Formats: sequence, C-alpha cells, structure tokens
Amino acid sequence: MNAAVPRPVIPLPFDLERIRADFPILAEPVRGGRLAYLDNGATTQKPESVLRAMDHYYRHQNSNVHRAVHDLAERATTAYEAARDRIARFFGAAREEIVFTRGTTEAINLVAYSYLLPRLKAGDEILVTGMEHHSNIVPWQLVAAQIGARVVAAPVTDSGELDFDAWRGMLNDRTRLVAVGHVSNTLGTINPVEDMIREAHALGIPVLVDGAQAIAHLAVDVRALDVDFYASSAHKAYGPTGFGTLYAKRGHLEAMQPWHGGGDMIRTVSFEGSTWNDIPYKFEAGTPDMAGAIGFAAALDYIEAQGLDAIAAHEHALLEEGTARLTAIPGLRLIGTARRKGGILSFVMDCAHPQDIGTILDQSGVAVRTGHHCTMPLMQRFGIPATVRASLGIYNGSDDLAQLEAALHKVNRLFT
Ligand code: PLP
Repeated sequence: MNAAVPRPVIPLPFDLERIRADFPILAEPVRGGRLAYLDNGATTQKPESVLRAMDHYYRHQNSNVHRAVHDLAERATTAYEAARDRIARFFGAAREEIVFTRGTTEAINLVAYSYLLPRLKAGDEILVTGMEHHSNIVPWQLVAAQIGARVVAAPVTDSGELDFDAWRGMLNDRTRLVAVGHVSNTLGTINPVEDMIREAHALGIPVLVDGAQAIAHLAVDVRALDVDFYASSAHKAYGPTGFGTLYAKRGHLEAMQPWHGGGDMIRTVSFEGSTWNDIPYKFEAGTPDMAGAIGFAAALDYIEAQGLDAIAAHEHALLEEGTARLTAIPGLRLIGTARRKGGILSFVMDCAHPQDIGTILDQSGVAVRTGHHCTMPLMQRFGIPATVRASLGIYNGSDDLAQLEAALHKVNRLFT
C-alpha cells in the first residue's frame, strides 16, 4: 500500500474553552458537582472526533481486514491501513516500522520475547532506571529469568532525576539492552533519552524508550532520536483503550522472529512448516483492532491540530502554577521536582494517607490517582508506600488546580 500523502497540520490557536467543548465527558457531573479530571496519567478522555471516527467505522466500514474482496472489506482495509500511515507520520517512521499492539505493555513484551530473549546469554544485563513503570521492568525479568541474565536499575536522585553519571557507569559489555521511560508516570521527570541513546549506541547497545507518558505531551521523532524501539498507548493520548504501537527500526523487525502465531502473520502454512508475512504483519497475528487503529489516528489528528508545542506550553504553565499552589499547602511534600518535568504532581501529606486524601478529593469532584502507580521500586527509593498523583492533560486549567487546592485544604482541616 502506498504511503498516504502527508496532510499539513495547521495548529489552531490554543483555546481552552473550545478544547473542553470537544470532550463530552468533561460536562459529566460527579458526586453532584463539577469534575476536575486530573488522572490523565492513568488514561485520558476522548474528544468527539475520536468517538465519531470509531462510530463511523462500525456504522459504515466494519468488516475483517486483509481477507475479502467485498466492498466493506475493502473499506475497512483502506481505513485501517490509512490509520497506520497516519500513526507512522506522527512518529516520523515508515509504515512498515509501526507494529500494532494492545498498548505499551504488549509492545515491551514483544521486544522482550521476540528481540531480546533469543539474543540473551547467562550473565547479561538489561539496564533500566529506578523510576520505571512495572511494564518496563517485569517483561525483562521474565526473559532474564529463563536465561540467567538480570535486570539492573540505575539510581534516581532525591529530586527524582536519573543519576546520569551512575547510569553511564553501569553500561558495560554485558549490557544487552537499555530500557527507559521517556517521562516518568509517577515523578513527571523527562529523562535525557537523546543523551542516553547516544551513549548506549557508542557501545553498540540498543535502546527501548517507553513513551506511554510522552506522546500526548511532547513531540517525538523516532528518526531524530535514533531510538531502536519506542512503545506507546493510544488511551494515554486521547485515543481508545486496548490499542498501541511499537515503533522498531526496520532492521530489527526483519531480524526478529514472530512471537504470536495465527492468521495474517503468515505467508504460507503447511504441516511441514510455515513462512512469515512481511513486517509489520509478521507480528500482528489474528484479527486486529481496526476501530482502535482508526481511533488512535483520529486522536493524533486532534493532538497535531492543537499543536504539540502549544500543548506543552499550556501544560508547563499549569505545572508551574500547580507546583506553587501545592507547595504552599502546610504539610504537603512534592515527590519529583526534576528540572525537566512533564505535567505530573505527585505528593504526600503529613496528616493523611494518600488513599484517604484521594477519597476526600473525590468528594470534591477531583479525580486523581493514589497508590504506587505501578512503580513499587520507586516508592521504596523514596521510603513511602504511595503518593497522590494529579496528572495534567490538554483540557485542564487553573480552575481544576483551584478545585484541587481547595480540596487539599479541606483534607488538612479534617485530619489535623
Ligand atoms: N509505562 C508507563 C510510564 C505508564 O505510565 C504506563 C501506564 O500507566 C505503562 C507503561 C503501561 O501502559 P498500558 O497499560 O497502556 O500498556
């Protein structure tokens, strides 16, 4: 299939009220009042254009892809493959380098089993950081355990930054892969992935970047990064749940064996043996999530129409405002104060456990996440069981932060 003709995206001026009007769920009353949705790190809400694109697919295009000659099958296949072109363009990749997955977690598992495991020897190391999400730790542990290799983690400083010199000192001739989160889901830290990729490549070590918390908030160009693998989830970028992508360099994908067998990933099948389809289909066994791909493409259209630079500037201004508001609250301590930070405010309070804080915030219509955020080693590093995490998205504003701040004062009143 030909690559789609790139459509220029002319960013709209950033207009918070117009953006909010695009997200129907934001008008939903919660606990009888206004919703301040500050749980974007867990999942984002979906704009009308994404809902419409998926609805349109099921009403007018639905059929199985790649398998029939009838009109609907052709419509479904065309829409599905156009989505791949759209997604590839967002990442600056070729369409063959974009493998559809169920999300970041599955993308990382694919690399663990299909790329790393066959190349791993006893004593090898997978170098991660101390701030990784469990999805960027456990898949490596699973394959390492099969071979007698191990996962090692570089330390995190008190402000929640990667200790870069310590990380560099841990690279060695046993390091088989570097894996790092682009943006920490718990701390908001933006890791220096450009420098890490350069250092690792100088030693011939490939790098996987977990982009789950990045793609809705900062521009990503996989070619400029020269990253080997880049994993992401649609639902954290205003797209549907259960869909995501793995970008991988063509050479890696061609050298990798399939990991799931079934329909669509084969060229020929016989009882003597089977042969594999071209990349990326070799890694996409079974009927795919067509509506998911189309919804993700629509979400990326939405993001680019607003402009990632404008989104980043808006969220950064809110982060600064939120930091000032929260640090003025007695007994509140921010966890994660890195110099380069995305829109995440994690904190603990002297007076109450995060779970109780979350419950009081909910009564005030403030949706946040409490717990370990799938980063248990990071909780151990900071000697805390959990944090409260407010995470920003495109539709948040000062009013959401004010609602959070007022509810936190209520927490102080109730518990002290
Ligand atoms: N990596 C990071 C940094 C995340 O924040 C998350 C989700 O919270 C994941 C990976 C896993 O994403 P998913 O559950 O969509 O596969």
